[in-house]
Amino acid sequence: MGDCSNITGGNGQGAASDLTVYLSSVLHDALRDLAALQWPEECCGLLIAAKQNPNRIERVVVARNVATDPRKTFEIDPQVLIDTYRAVRSSDEMVVGCFHSHPNGNVLPSTTDRARADVDGFLWLIIATDHSGVLKSGMYRARHQKSSNPRDGETIRYFRRCKLLSEAIGLY
Ligand SMILES: [Zn+2]
Repeated sequence: MGDCSNITGGNGQGAASDLTVYLSSVLHDALRDLAALQWPEECCGLLIAAKQNPNRIERVVVARNVATDPRKTFEIDPQVLIDTYRAVRSSDEMVVGCFHSHPNGNVLPSTTDRARADVDGFLWLIIATDHSGVLKSGMYRARHQKSSNPRDGETIRYFRRCKLLSEAIGLY
């Protein structure tokens, strides 16, 4: 590609750079393999980054999907949630997002995903699978926005699609 020379990963962070997320091809491939192996059930887990560079996924935590119907939805093993949040609290890392697969082949966030997107700014990696393996994956950032009508005071939730780059490109 070669058009990424202006990415410094540091200053000038605006809304646009918020929508560029780095995930190494090694990690991405591992997650794709996991998603394919887990079909027809959904795999799930957490995305971890360094606090000073939250747009670059450093590692992932794979969790058991403890949902009652893991073919239709996911629920991260609560013990993994507790352990992971506890571990990063005293470190320079943070939980920046989650991942799960869609065994129905749809790479877009579902209405259930939107309803569960409780954290503004949280990243959602979705890996679409079917019986043949992985179709594609998409990274999204959950957004919360106050309704323009102050009377209803409702918060609107939506997902912004992120550009997913492997760190081999232009990152140092
Ligand atoms: Zn989903």
